[in-house]
Amino acid sequence: MMLMTSPDCLFCRIVRGEIPATIVHSTAKIIAFRDIAPKAPVHVLVIPRDHHADVAALAEADPALAGALLAAVGVVAAGEGIDVSGYRTIFNSGPDGGQEVAHVHAHVLGGAPLGTAIVP
Ligand code: AMP
Repeated sequence: MMLMTSPDCLFCRIVRGEIPATIVHSTAKIIAFRDIAPKAPVHVLVIPRDHHADVAALAEADPALAGALLAAVGVVAAGEGIDVSGYRTIFNSGPDGGQEVAHVHAHVLGGAPLGTAIVP
């Protein structure tokens, strides 16, 4: 299967195996790996293998892949044992959204009560 990856993108480099990551879920289209600087007891990033800049770009270019990404969030939550206790899913977009890596990724956070704050 042809993948659309970007040479200098950090997460594309993880997809290609050029940078190590602790991968917790992997399919032909999606991978999920532990965030290197976890903000909660469970903090996993779920990404499509294909490069799309953010969630809006992904949904516009490939709605089926966007659906697969959302489905993978649930699979990861169950695999991490936080599907019943609950978790938060965050997509940051652009500078004001705090997006540091321009490859769409769902943050899946849980394992403890996260409170109600949306912004720090
Ligand atoms: P965002 O600010 O939404 O773009 O989130 C980027 C996330 O990627 C941050 O939570 C970082 O801690 C995380 N991150 C950066 N480099 C790595 C890496 N090499 N492996 C795993 N997570 C990373």
